[in-house]
Amino acid sequence: MESLKIHDKKFSESIHSKKIQGTVGKIAAQLNHDLKDKEVVFIGVLNGAFMFASDLMKQIQLNCRISFIKVSSYAGISSTGSVINLIGLNEVIKGKTVVIIEDIIDSGKTLNFILSALKEHEPTEIKIVTLLFKPAAFKFNYKPDYVGYRIPNQFVVGYGLDYAGFGRNLTSIYTLVNE
Ligand code: 5GP
Ligand code: MG
Repeated sequence: MESLKIHDKKFSESIHSKKIQGTVGKIAAQLNHDLKDKEVVFIGVLNGAFMFASDLMKQIQLNCRISFIKVSSYAGISSTGSVINLIGLNEVIKGKTVVIIEDIIDSGKTLNFILSALKEHEPTEIKIVTLLFKPAAFKFNYKPDYVGYRIPNQFVVGYGLDYAGFGRNLTSIYTLVNE
């Protein structure tokens, strides 16, 4: 099992790139089947989902649009302590099937915000695709529709996911080694 160091932390490989590609192919096949004949807008959530979205979309055979959004959060402005903004939604989604492409769902807070922001634009339906899902950390009651891997509540990097900005370019997924 390959292991590597990013900054001060050690990570060991937990999902090999070949396995990820197989999983991405299975999700794409399900989407191709389930969303046939619908007007679909795929929305990838930057930065983390860029690699998953790219690989997934190469295998999507639907006549669809693809766009990206970014969520920016900063603390200390509002009374709740954090403010989240959604940037870059310039696709018309009213009356369309929206498919959100996420890298990982942890507590679910980010996606919960995205869901309520998108719902204001009146899409017909919203489907959620995530490569990784941490059920033990999840705090909401919506459900991701397509999940690549359910993983334990541990920190992972690679395949779009970073540690302190690094590791996004790794083609496999690595889990933090607690030392
Ligand atoms: P949530 O709002 O669901 O708690 O967290 C979602 C965001 O937190 C993800 O989009 C990602 O940016 C970050 N995140 C959550 N868990 C991990 C993880 O294990 N590794 C990395 N690199 N980022 C994570
Ligand atoms: Mg993300």
